[in-house]
Amino acid sequence: MNAPFDPGTAETCTLVRILGTSVLPGEHHVLDLQVARLYTRTSVEIPVVVHRGKEDGPVLLLLAGVHGDEVNGIDSVRRILNELKERPLERGTLVAIPVLNVFGFLAMKRELPDGRDLNRFFPGSANGSLASRLAHALVTEVLPAVDVVIDLHSGADQRFNHAHLRYTEGDEASLQLAEIFDPPLILKAAMREKSIRSYLHEKGTSYVLFEGGKARSLDEDVIREAFRGITRVMEHLGLWKGPSDSKRGATALASSKWVRSPNAGLFHPMMENGSKVQRDMVLGFVSDPYGDLVKPVKAPYSGYIICVNTAPVVNQGDALFHIGIQ
Ligand SMILES: [Zn+2]
Repeated sequence: MNAPFDPGTAETCTLVRILGTSVLPGEHHVLDLQVARLYTRTSVEIPVVVHRGKEDGPVLLLLAGVHGDEVNGIDSVRRILNELKERPLERGTLVAIPVLNVFGFLAMKRELPDGRDLNRFFPGSANGSLASRLAHALVTEVLPAVDVVIDLHSGADQRFNHAHLRYTEGDEASLQLAEIFDPPLILKAAMREKSIRSYLHEKGTSYVLFEGGKARSLDEDVIREAFRGITRVMEHLGLWKGPSDSKRGATALASSKWVRSPNAGLFHPMMENGSKVQRDMVLGFVSDPYGDLVKPVKAPYSGYIICVNTAPVVNQGDALFHIGIQ
């Protein structure tokens, strides 16, 4: 398909044009993606940071904050940008959007102010809803210049994701990118309509989605895992010299299923996130507050725990453990 993983094939690409600006070798810009004006008349601008190395090479986009309250990704991108002060790019271009959904980031919410999930509106349109306009701006002003995308996310409320990558089923370049990133676990993910992933898949741009931690919470282990993976991809693409560490080898997961709560009550998880579990193993228990009822939560299948519900109190049927199956 596309060939951003062969650093030798990008040699002929000399024009890097983002948001109407031609970025020349060795240049660094902070550009603004302009989307909307608020009812306070304040115009909303989304900073797009661009660093270009002295030599030609692939263009990598680090995208975070598609969901405004998923701050682990935002901090991971911040750390990469900070690292660039000590370790400038050798070649190629790094485009970083640490916070795409600035509206959600200000309000610490996943969605845009109108309640829409930005990741269900790609490729968007110039005259649509705010979500649609924002998607359209990214699609027309930034993505045409990009060869490879790493999109960073966290679990929703009270859902702590063990660091993992999701790659697109049937997309070899996406799987290859996931293996280079080398997280503990990689999960094959079905396509979700109108997501940025489905748009980029159709366009032939390599894309992986990082999942780690939970919304409105910074987790050091998750951020370090993302930083390490991004660094490995940058080194592979030749943006940085490398490799700076050796490959661990990710465990591949073909599908995933949720284990739900057998009854309402206080939830006591017993297994660590990321651990391997066997069928019928007790993963935790749910108890009522009165000392009588204690129900074990058993694994209906063998696999790896990729997400744990961190809520202290749950209802019957609530998703408790997400199990990735090999
Ligand atoms: Zn997300």
